[in-house]
Amino acid sequence: MNKRHVTVSGVRLKFASAHMATLGNELEPLHGHNYSVSVKVEGTLSNDFWVIDFSKIKGITRDICDRLDHKFLLQAKSNLLSSTLEQETWHLSFGNRVYQLPQSDVAVLPIENSTAELLAEWICTQIDKELLNHGQTNINLIAVEIEEMPGQSGGFQLERTHTED
Ligand SMILES: [Zn+2]
Repeated sequence: MNKRHVTVSGVRLKFASAHMATLGNELEPLHGHNYSVSVKVEGTLSNDFWVIDFSKIKGITRDICDRLDHKFLLQAKSNLLSSTLEQETWHLSFGNRVYQLPQSDVAVLPIENSTAELLAEWICTQIDKELLNHGQTNINLIAVEIEEMPGQSGGFQLERTHTED
């Protein structure tokens, strides 16, 4: 079976967010990035010779970026950074460093660490869900690359099993 692919990236596939990743037993200082996202989807061609409509995959990716834009990216499954939500406020602690953030400023992600690699994986699984919702069953591979800054990116690719050949 011939596989074709499309790739999207661009000025609107971005998000500006704050985070603190852990490295070893250390927690980074609070800081932010202007993240850029590129997505490759591979699959079989439709009868009119498309893998996917560019505007569809861009729209899906942009909506996911919007959920992260101007938020603190919380690695809710971290073993090192503890996080609890009380009365619409997130309480984060690491040793004697304590942070409080309004719930509305936090994107809670079910990941162990807020690295570009795991952010790419989370975005990839969200795209996968949306493609299924759109009935896009011809796609067999989704690859996401997240650039934290020029020349520094992390990626993830997911091979879909729920495709039709
Ligand atoms: Zn960073």
